Amino acid sequence: MKLLGIHHITAIATDPQRNLDFYTDVLGLRLVKRTVNFDDPGTYHFYFGDRIGKPGTIITFFPWPGARRGTRGTGQVVATSFAVPAKSIGYWSERLKKEGVIAEEKFRRFDEEGVRLVDSDGLLLEMIASPHLDDVDLDFASAAPAEFAIRSFQAPTLEVQKAKSTEQLLTMFGFHLSAEEGSRRRFALNEGSTSARVDVIELPDGQIGNIAAGTVHHIAFRTANDEEQLHWRNQLVDLGLHVTPVIDRQYFHSIYFREPNGILFEIATEGPGFAIDEPVEQLGGSLKLPKLLEAERESIEQVLPPIELRRAADR
Ligand code: ZN
Repeated sequence: MKLLGIHHITAIATDPQRNLDFYTDVLGLRLVKRTVNFDDPGTYHFYFGDRIGKPGTIITFFPWPGARRGTRGTGQVVATSFAVPAKSIGYWSERLKKEGVIAEEKFRRFDEEGVRLVDSDGLLLEMIASPHLDDVDLDFASAAPAEFAIRSFQAPTLEVQKAKSTEQLLTMFGFHLSAEEGSRRRFALNEGSTSARVDVIELPDGQIGNIAAGTVHHIAFRTANDEEQLHWRNQLVDLGLHVTPVIDRQYFHSIYFREPNGILFEIATEGPGFAIDEPVEQLGGSLKLPKLLEAERESIEQVLPPIELRRAADR
């Protein structure tokens, strides 16, 4: 049994409108769910992805207005990387410049070209041109043309002080070492899928990162169903790791634990998916709440800052 790949990556933002504008208008993703942080219902939880929010394409945010800025460091996912089609880096460099986004010069990694940028809260992102792309649904009114569009994750970077224990855990989940370049070691579940890879970098003297705005909160991996999730839960308990019970996240079921270097990992089921409480055509169009919070809708809506989908309003 193996995990299937990345399910989603969740990061912390500050201003919800700025976050929404960046990921829809600048990066061309679709807002596939507008809900609240179930553990903190006075805070939004936004999910962005392809048309349906396919696992492997989903980046999510807790926008905490006024949150202090975190720092990148060990014990974190330090770079969130997306796969884009070959020959699209030029397009993205131009577009980012035009949108006033801070982006660095192009780089090469494992023979692929990429560009590094930061989002409106300083979260480090990478776009990497990949010859083999995951099959995703781009049939929506995106701010970016489909030929250049973001397709899914591509090997985000995990920075740790002692790689061995993290790598052993990845191996238990079915990852294998697929490539090495300098201190970067790439682990893959499936060589054919960009969202089934992670890169591990060991920095023995690296400063431990501070998780707040502009940093990744956790990375979620996907598993096929509830039975397989329980299998993984039992394995983690046997290793002596503290794992949460299965939590119903409405759109998937989740368990959470800290891997040995402190990165918060989640294992989430593929289903039931984002169309469980609104039709695919209307995903992200209005605030959705799980049943338990629906009774408090009025007070929740009073606390949340108003937001609007701008150029993306016709989606
Ligand atoms: Zn999550």
